[in-house]
Amino acid sequence: MILFVSDLHLCSSRPKINRIFFEFLAGTARRADALYILGDLFEYWAGDDDIGDPFNASVIAALRDCAAAAPVFVMRGNRDFLLGDRFARAAGVQRIDDPVLIDCSGTPTLLTHGDALCTDDADYMRFRAEVRSRQWIDAFLATPLPERKSKIEALRRKSEAEKKRKPSAIMDVNNGAVEELLRKHGYPGLVIHGHTHRPAKHEHLAETHRCERRVLADWYTGGSYLACDASGVASIAL
Ligand code: MN
Repeated sequence: MILFVSDLHLCSSRPKINRIFFEFLAGTARRADALYILGDLFEYWAGDDDIGDPFNASVIAALRDCAAAAPVFVMRGNRDFLLGDRFARAAGVQRIDDPVLIDCSGTPTLLTHGDALCTDDADYMRFRAEVRSRQWIDAFLATPLPERKSKIEALRRKSEAEKKRKPSAIMDVNNGAVEELLRKHGYPGLVIHGHTHRPAKHEHLAETHRCERRVLADWYTGGSYLACDASGVASIAL
């Protein structure tokens, strides 16, 4: 059984969700064949020099304990795209690219966080291109950690205000972008992503190829995951 989660947005101020996640890591995930975390594990990640923060250290210890029993793969999301090798080593997890194609019990399965598919949101795509550039990342990581944290807080406030203003439709994935991605990766039968916080099962027909697209739920009010084996994909609430 391979398990998938995303959009946990872990932070110290949501103890109930943290408890659910730690229990999940110590139980269900440990017994799985693999756990894939598809981005936005953390509410934000200011840089790997923040692994000593007590809350971050507690998450890293829980991941490490789980990873001792089952491989844990971590993809970066738009909130934690600065997760790096130092974090991965400390947590005993393997970082994976976005997107990545895996074999899920015989089904070619494409994994992505999902934000790169939201191409209708031109402002966001511009912002994304800017902050993912080597130049921006190097300059950002060169500033002191407390400064980075306050800058992220300011960006988050701005993004929350913008989200309220933007029409809901442009913050979903663009079907054309999904189909383009399917084409590029040889029409996998399954795509799993998060980011939009709109858990669902969609069917795509790209040329003559059928593809199931599963959208993961966020962990704002409770935990949930997708479980995949040869019999298919199941959505499970915790
Ligand atoms: Mn996201």
